[in-house]
Amino acid sequence: MRPKVGVFDFTCCQGCELQILNCEEEMPDLIAALDIVAFREAMTERGNYYDIAFIDGACSRESEIVSLKEIRKRAKIVIPIGACACLGGVNCLKNAYPMDEVLKAEYGEAASYYDTIPARPISAVIPVDFFMPGCPIVKEEFIRVVQELLAGRDPYQPNDPVCAECKAGGNVCVFDKGMTCLGPVTRGGCKATCVTGGAVCWGCRGLIDEPNIHAEKEILESAGLSMEDITKRFNLFNVCQEGVWK
Ligand code: SF4
Ligand code: SF4
Ligand code: SF4
Repeated sequence: MRPKVGVFDFTCCQGCELQILNCEEEMPDLIAALDIVAFREAMTERGNYYDIAFIDGACSRESEIVSLKEIRKRAKIVIPIGACACLGGVNCLKNAYPMDEVLKAEYGEAASYYDTIPARPISAVIPVDFFMPGCPIVKEEFIRVVQELLAGRDPYQPNDPVCAECKAGGNVCVFDKGMTCLGPVTRGGCKATCVTGGAVCWGCRGLIDEPNIHAEKEILESAGLSMEDITKRFNLFNVCQEGVWK
């Protein structure tokens, strides 16, 4: 029996679901191994019970709380995919403002037709079994997690900082080039793709376990960032991660 899989989207850009659909080479094997019974971005049919439910997006509406609880009841394993689902991500930036102001800024005169609540990660609403972080998720990581689940194993969760893969990849550290980076405290697994591509790490995969926040703050301050800049930098993806950056 192939495990039944549902892929669901909540508040997000759906880019992480697109990453699943981008697994073109592996798609025949995925379809052979999995019975995909719900995936709004890819199909119209919808099944009601799931061995694995992948959740894309944060929760930012009362109706999403209801839907998430329903999915939890119907799924054996629930895995948030992407920064929005795992961390709240950029959706949580609105939490600094009153919700009626947020609605008005977004929808103008049509604001009264919509509802919103402060955004939150999926784990703040329902229990989840594993996390697959990133903005977007890494295709290879999705395939690996599926393979581990099919083999009956708990998926491996990388916990080395982005710096480890960055140095292994031969990059020159951006601090040596006058830029700043959250790599020392951010969970690896992305092969430091942003640094490799000429940018810096913005922390989209969330924090490693027991990050040395104090040291990171000192590094950023010594590189010339103000406390306000540091807070903004950190808050981009991680503002909903309570108590780690105050
Ligand atoms: S984590 Fe990034 S790519 Fe994925 S849904 Fe959210 S904003 Fe889009
Ligand atoms: S560029 Fe960023 S991720 Fe790479 S080594 Fe430097 S601090 Fe770490
Ligand atoms: S380098 Fe940082 S921001 Fe870029 S994908 Fe990796 S964790 Fe995300």
